[in-house]
Amino acid sequence: MKKKDLKGVEFERFEDVVVKYGFEKYRAAQLFGWIHVKRAGGLDAVKNIPAPVKEALLQAGYDIIYPAMAEKTESRRDATVKFLFKAADSAAFEAVRIEDKGRETLCISSQSGCACACGFCATGKMGLKRNLETGEMIAQFYAAAGALGIKFDNLVFMGMGEPLLNWDNVSRAIDILSDRRGSNFSRSRITVSTCGITPVMKKIARMEPGFNLAVSVITADNEQRSKLMPVNVKYPLKGVVEAAAEFGRKAKGRLTFECVLFDGINDSLQHAEALAGLIRGINCRVNIIPYNSAAGTGYSRPDTLKALAFQKALKRRGVEAYIRKEKGADIKAACGQLAAGENNSQC
Ligand code: SF4
Repeated sequence: MKKKDLKGVEFERFEDVVVKYGFEKYRAAQLFGWIHVKRAGGLDAVKNIPAPVKEALLQAGYDIIYPAMAEKTESRRDATVKFLFKAADSAAFEAVRIEDKGRETLCISSQSGCACACGFCATGKMGLKRNLETGEMIAQFYAAAGALGIKFDNLVFMGMGEPLLNWDNVSRAIDILSDRRGSNFSRSRITVSTCGITPVMKKIARMEPGFNLAVSVITADNEQRSKLMPVNVKYPLKGVVEAAAEFGRKAKGRLTFECVLFDGINDSLQHAEALAGLIRGINCRVNIIPYNSAAGTGYSRPDTLKALAFQKALKRRGVEAYIRKEKGADIKAACGQLAAGENNSQC
């Protein structure tokens, strides 16, 4: 029987489980605290719960399960650390710690691999292995914090995978991490990134979820976007921008458009002008990400002056625009480089 990870169970369901096995409701709060505050690595590490409660849960197939931390790689250039996790079925996924001016951010994966096949992304070249379970996302957060002995200020779902194609598990992970009876991590410090899965974006906008959304827009040219991001054929740019605008109007979180810049592809002043026109009137900001090279993609990074000119052109049109600092590129931990070791040797 496949074991069920208690880390991935919401508090309300947790109560049901505990009561179902004949124990008092308050045991649920005790156990939840052991898992999400004390971060016990297994049911055997939980101390003040009677043995029959633990035994009943184990018999029912529940435990607290962590994937193995197979590798921890530290950048020599900055404070970036990349963690490679391996689940019992060998599914591999990565999380990245990024430090900036004393702020600690963890970037986690929502899938092992990705089906979206963006042409510039090392994860896309892996194909989809499988969706990560709720507990596997929470495990990245707890294990990385434990290994580094730090608390994270921000959590971003920008690692391997498309979070909105594993939305049930991602939204449950956010609910559990932000539960005040557990980690109590503020939803306003969580950002979910998407390449533009329009129907799920619209659903999220209507939920008023309290977290932030980052949408990878890349270019204002629909045809060009389809070449760079095949998902654009199914969910064209116009609908993606409309869904993002709906999030900007209705949801309480911040909306960011991510624009990866490729040398000679989408980095001209005309591209910047067109992008400014596309998002005109939307309450948002733009993150410009000069491309970090990834295995066998054929794309390259524009020079700094081009990125600055692109930013200036956006600002001239009234767009709040920032250039993201490159972090962790020497350990293949930067945006678009995560491949769980599969493609890295070709770089
Ligand atoms: S950029 Fe994101 S959505 Fe595209 S292939 Fe990579 S992980 Fe998937």
